[in-house]
Amino acid sequence: MTFVIPQPPVPTVAIAGSDQVFPVHRVYCVGRNYAEHAREMGHDPDREPPFFFQKSPDNLLPAGAPGGGDFPYPSKSENVHHEIELVCALSGGGTDIPEDKAMDLVWGFGVGLDMTRRDLQGEAKKAGRPWDVGKAFEHAAPIAPLHPATETGDMSQARVWLDINGETRQDGNTNQLIWSMPETIAYLSGLFELRPGDLIFTGTPAGVGPVVRGDVLEGGVEGLTGIKITVT
Ligand code: MN
Repeated sequence: MTFVIPQPPVPTVAIAGSDQVFPVHRVYCVGRNYAEHAREMGHDPDREPPFFFQKSPDNLLPAGAPGGGDFPYPSKSENVHHEIELVCALSGGGTDIPEDKAMDLVWGFGVGLDMTRRDLQGEAKKAGRPWDVGKAFEHAAPIAPLHPATETGDMSQARVWLDINGETRQDGNTNQLIWSMPETIAYLSGLFELRPGDLIFTGTPAGVGPVVRGDVLEGGVEGLTGIKITVT
């Protein structure tokens, strides 16, 4: 078999302390998965089943601290928001995974930023249109190197935070997730066939807000390599 155009590269994420990389199949994101964040976006967290959107694997931007990565301020937006998130990386897959088997699919964890063109997302919400232009643009998914779950444990209780220019803006804990990781994986596997290489951005705690050019964002999840981006 030959390709009619050059084969696009396989998107990958670095592995902490290793030359190996994690090849990415899909990037799923959970919406409004922390109660305080759901409220700050104007929703009642008690009445909503989990919902999902996707980013494109080639939206990933290598951004492990201390060096971090440059995040070019995207086009067509004047209100780009940060959302710091725990990211779960799958080495297994399947459909209709039971909750008690869900964590068996997990290879490891990393820190990610779900960068969002909030103004375009807001217009899409109002018009009942898809969120893609707000969520799945170039460099919209900065990510730090992954750690294997064999080293980190299940990450069900870990601080999640983001500082901008040294000032803390988001500060939560994965024990505040409305839908836990096993619940999320089980639910998601009913909607899609999960595959090795899938990433799941698990949602962001409260405190999201706009970034401007020159901002330095540094964040983390307790126990994992931190993330850093400079908005350019
Ligand atoms: Mn998010």
